[in-house]
Amino acid sequence: MGGLLAARVLSDFYDRVSVVERDELTDQAVPRRGVPQSRQPHVLMSRCGEIVEELFPGLLDELVADGAHCWNDGDLSRFHVFFGGHLVTRTGSIPSPGSLITHHASRPFIECHVRRRLRRIPNVAILDRHDIVDLAASDGRVTGVLLHRHADRQAVNLDADVTVDATGRGSRTPVVLQRLGYGRPEERELPVHVTYSSVPVRIPDGVLREHTFARLFEPGRPHGFVMFRAEGERWILGAGTLGSVDPPTTQAEIVDFGADWAPPHALAAARAAEPLGEVCMHRFPANRWRRYDRMARTPEGLLVLGDAVSSFNPIYGQGMTMASMEALVLRDCLRHGDVDLPRRFHRASAKKIRVAWQTAVGSDLALPEIPGPRTMTARITNAYVGRVLAAAESDPFVAQEFLRVTGMLTTPARLLRPDFVAHVARASRRQRVHPVLAATR
Ligand SMILES: Cc1cc2nc3c(=O)[nH]c(=O)nc-3n(C[C@H](O)[C@H](O)[C@H](O)COP(=O)(O)OP(=O)(O)OC[C@H]3O[C@@H](n4cnc5c(N)ncnc54)[C@H](O)[C@@H]3O)c2cc1C
Repeated sequence: MGGLLAARVLSDFYDRVSVVERDELTDQAVPRRGVPQSRQPHVLMSRCGEIVEELFPGLLDELVADGAHCWNDGDLSRFHVFFGGHLVTRTGSIPSPGSLITHHASRPFIECHVRRRLRRIPNVAILDRHDIVDLAASDGRVTGVLLHRHADRQAVNLDADVTVDATGRGSRTPVVLQRLGYGRPEERELPVHVTYSSVPVRIPDGVLREHTFARLFEPGRPHGFVMFRAEGERWILGAGTLGSVDPPTTQAEIVDFGADWAPPHALAAARAAEPLGEVCMHRFPANRWRRYDRMARTPEGLLVLGDAVSSFNPIYGQGMTMASMEALVLRDCLRHGDVDLPRRFHRASAKKIRVAWQTAVGSDLALPEIPGPRTMTARITNAYVGRVLAAAESDPFVAQEFLRVTGMLTTPARLLRPDFVAHVARASRRQRVHPVLAATR
């Protein structure tokens, strides 16, 4: 995703853009080896949707026309989602439906639509079945990449003014930079050891009106269950486990992970659902941020983005949004020319990444099961977020603003603005005075 969106941006500034991909790319929305997480539940969060639409006008309508589901009417009953043990209110609508829109489709479906649009851009070429083997460099500059072409097993040199590494979590750029004498970027890590087990299923239209059922990790609850609507009648059932909890291996076991909280009609639909594929497992060891922005020296002509720089516990669904925000950072940097581009790009990206990092790591550290340093600020923040989530059980405005933060439409600072704090305080008072009434609203 990062590579596709960056290519779209580069096509406005350079004569020729080549997207290099090791997998074979067809026009089908199918999972592929190079994106092992593509079988897992994904959702196109609000800010990512906005950016994708800005870069490819009309793309969101195309997604919907081809079967994606769009939540744009603010109807809260479409979700049955717990955050930190609090069920977000399911009554009524958010006050500003247009301010929070999500698209529900599988990861291969989303990616396939973006790629299809990219292919239509005349100065973009997609070279699939090519492995990037190495970076070519001379005189303090990366001058392109060395490729291995699968078709004839030949080595190919691809020269470039700018090379963008969007090869995901497995990126080898740190190793190459070290070999070239620049050293490796400092790495921040918070191990989480999350495992997802998922299975795609068919649930006929009309059986469920919700788009999402989700309850993931909470203190004392190192396991969770999600049901994500995808395109058409496709759904993804998934279970998440933390640490040493054994992940489920069958559809029935996955659904059992939701047995103690998911509504009976959802569980019945999940149990009766026709499987469309095998159960697939994905392990995610750690939140990780490679600090290219802090390196004393990097070669000219080389940028790194997406999971190759930072990746977060997938339960927060931030990855594609982060990659899309970095594509916009790239555009903004290029509007000021390409002088000193890597330094400007990595520093500007780091400002965006920091927000996502603090949100993910801060939320992870609210779980006693995840070891790591807990600062006083983090403890106070998590205590306040607990109040916010309790308020979101009954107040649609609080739910809306909290979801706008998780959708990365606004920063967590929004949760400290006086109008918002007043809502939280009012909801807390209501819950203290009428606990039963508040809980049943
Ligand atoms: C379980 C799970 C659930 C998630 N859910 C969500 C979600 O709901 N919403 C969300 O926004 N994000 C989600 N994410 C995160 C999201 O998948 C990633 O953040 C996002 O795909 C990152 O994009 P990327 O372009 O950096 O890397 P990727 O999408 O991983 O792409 C990397 C590409 O590089 C290619 N490649 C790698 N090495 C080479 C090489 N040497 N030569 C040629 N090609 C190469 C690969 O084949 C692949 O196509 C989830 C992640 C996980 C693990």
